[in-house]
Amino acid sequence: MEVCLALGAKRHLQSGSKLKNGKVIAVDTASIVERYKTLQRYIGWQDADAQQVRAAQPVLLPHLEPVIADFYATIEQFPEALKVITGGPAQIERLKRTLHAWVRELLSGPYEQEYILRRWKVGFRHVEIGLDQLYADAALSRMRGRLVGLLEEHWTDSQVELRKTLTSLRKLLDLEFAIITSAYQSEYLAKLQRSERFAALGQVTGGIAHEMRNPLNVIKTSVYYLQNARQVTPEKSAEHLKRIGKQVEVADNVIAALSSFTKQPQPNTQMFSAAVCVGRAIEDASLPQSIQVELISPPDLPPAQGDEDQIRIVLANLIHNARDAMSQGGKLTVTLSQVDGQINFQVSDTGHGIPQEILHQVMEPFFTTKARGIGLGLAISRSIVERNRGLLTVSCPPGSGATFQLRLPAAAEASGNEKP
Ligand code: ADP
Repeated sequence: MEVCLALGAKRHLQSGSKLKNGKVIAVDTASIVERYKTLQRYIGWQDADAQQVRAAQPVLLPHLEPVIADFYATIEQFPEALKVITGGPAQIERLKRTLHAWVRELLSGPYEQEYILRRWKVGFRHVEIGLDQLYADAALSRMRGRLVGLLEEHWTDSQVELRKTLTSLRKLLDLEFAIITSAYQSEYLAKLQRSERFAALGQVTGGIAHEMRNPLNVIKTSVYYLQNARQVTPEKSAEHLKRIGKQVEVADNVIAALSSFTKQPQPNTQMFSAAVCVGRAIEDASLPQSIQVELISPPDLPPAQGDEDQIRIVLANLIHNARDAMSQGGKLTVTLSQVDGQINFQVSDTGHGIPQEILHQVMEPFFTTKARGIGLGLAISRSIVERNRGLLTVSCPPGSGATFQLRLPAAAEASGNEKP
């Protein structure tokens, strides 16, 4: 068992342990000890087992040399295992001595904190040097087989005692197996957390890029026009500057939306006109000519209650998605109504629609079907709407475009329900 590789390394783990690739993983020594003790109890390890194993020392220790020689001879036959021993025969000689020490300690204990942490370090050293866990397990299994064989071969006491000793030794080696596995688990967990963090970072970064590309492209085009067009009339110049100003605002809103998603700010709840809010969102979206827009709003609609700026961000998201779904043109209809004391914003398009099988997923974070999408728009939108005490739902009958319903408390209703 490559345990000896680790003992040779004389590494110390305190609050953290460094891997070969420079990554440091936190090591909670108290929980390692606690876990080992829990496993001891689970498998029924007792003082009597420790005595039983200790009593086997005179039988095993005089015959260890061939076992250790076999151990390394086996490693040498398997390139995957051998590749972690980079110091050649001299290192193998050193490792043989440390394996000897490892077995002596295995048979003597005491099986307390220091022992446990030393054994864990041994397991972790294999992780550090990049030994595949399967080989660590296989090596321990081989060592187990050889120790059991030695006991059976050289045992002079009764068969009953032999059986008891074998049982105790197996328990001890099972614990050894568990501790090595736990060292590998610590690394796998740290690796998983690192890659999840990177994936999330990549997605968020991609998301920001996606959201910002649009306004920046418009700005770029206008700047190019202003710099390069011959004979720019004052009207054209004013028009492009206005467009730039508007897109800067759009970009600013995107950043505000993203930071509000991460910071989860409380909405600044006020009464506002749903029709005015929708009108602004439509205007900000600068939809192409190919998309016809209709806003239907009853004249007596009560004001909505919520954070108007946040709701406009949600509407902008819904409108952008509708535009993306109608790349060949179509119609966007926003219908406002009062339903059960709430203001309902219904946003419908005549685009390609959403297949039934993914309808339940579209508001999940990072769900996207767009080449450049990252799937944060609806997740952010839903989160914003819920923080505004509202509800965002989606429906899409087969063969037609998508319809999103955004419900918010109506002003009168909301004030009646105000929380203290
Ligand atoms: P993204 O726009 O980055 O993909 P969203 O969360 O805004 O992220 O949307 C998630 C997915 O929901 C989209 O990729 C698309 O598949 C689907 N979707 C959203 N709105 C519509 C719509 N109006 N029509 C068709 N599909 C839509």
